[in-house]
Amino acid sequence: MIFCCRNAAILRHITATQNIMQNMPENVDIAASYIKQGKVVAFPTETVYGLGANALNPIAVARIFEIKERPYFDPLIVHIAETTQLKDLCSSIDDRVYALAEKFWPGPLTIVLPKSKAVPDIVTAGLPTVAVRMPAHDVALELIRKSECPIAAPSANKFGQLSPTCAHHVRKQLTNVDYIIDGGKTTLGIESTIVQLAPDGFTILRYGIITENELSEILPAGYGSAKDQTFAPGMMKSHYSPRKKLYIAYDVEPHLDISKAGLISYSGKLEKDAYKKIVRVAPNKDLKEYAANLFEALHSLEDDEEVNVIVAEPVDESGIGRAIMDRLKKAAYAWC
Ligand code: AMP
Ligand code: MG
Repeated sequence: MIFCCRNAAILRHITATQNIMQNMPENVDIAASYIKQGKVVAFPTETVYGLGANALNPIAVARIFEIKERPYFDPLIVHIAETTQLKDLCSSIDDRVYALAEKFWPGPLTIVLPKSKAVPDIVTAGLPTVAVRMPAHDVALELIRKSECPIAAPSANKFGQLSPTCAHHVRKQLTNVDYIIDGGKTTLGIESTIVQLAPDGFTILRYGIITENELSEILPAGYGSAKDQTFAPGMMKSHYSPRKKLYIAYDVEPHLDISKAGLISYSGKLEKDAYKKIVRVAPNKDLKEYAANLFEALHSLEDDEEVNVIVAEPVDESGIGRAIMDRLKKAAYAWC
């Protein structure tokens, strides 16, 4: 990601801050011993940082909700390290689940499945289903294995606020986490795609890096959009919100004083010298770069004292663009 400051030819290329702790196995050992004791640990995944606890310990899971100030109606995703763990969590698993796991796990796909009795109701918000994912991150997988339990983990931020893509973002929002593993910047930068299977097709409950087209290759039958659903838990209109007013550029008010605004620039076409700050999220004009850098850009502008409003460039709502626009629209909603 490239930051560009007005009046100064300062260009900083921000690359992933590889923290040496990531490669120190004792940090994962400590974190795993905390999970076993019923404590709460923040850890990196390839999507965003998670706030994890033993998914089979309802008291430990309750602390996740307390720390995040998350409403209890919003269910959590359970993270596993081996597909064999599915049997403990799910009451039935059809062949399409194994086909999805074969293609996309470890990776940014969450599958909603019928839950087993072993999964406490607090994890699923009382639903008969449980959302499961295997993250593609060595530290996350090692943590799950060493904890010897599935780990329930939402994003490690206060409910409704910006998702964390580095350990600093976690520390900024959450003060009473028992342990944070610093694994540097996450590579994908937005949350997993969530899919729910139906007898004759599938529904995407949340858009992510794995697209509808990719899912259709494995699940060729009918497809139902999340929009068709009257209700799915946790699908708020407002979410991922920065603490400053956010406009998507097609909404920008004509009288907006952009000399105090920060622009999140994708294509370059909206860039004007008058902006206080410009954050170029995709040097190669690649939507994966936009996704990877979106939350980091929002955090940096939220923290910048010289910026009092954020303007973000929209993209076409197809493929990964749909996931980016989902985050932007929800982040902007509170400010409409
Ligand atoms: P996150 O907050 O990123 O951990 O994502 C959790 C989201 O996954 C929730 O807000 C729901 O939208 C979705 N989810 C989790 N469990 C279920 C479930 N059993 N059924 C449907 N959606 C679920
Ligand atoms: Mg979240």
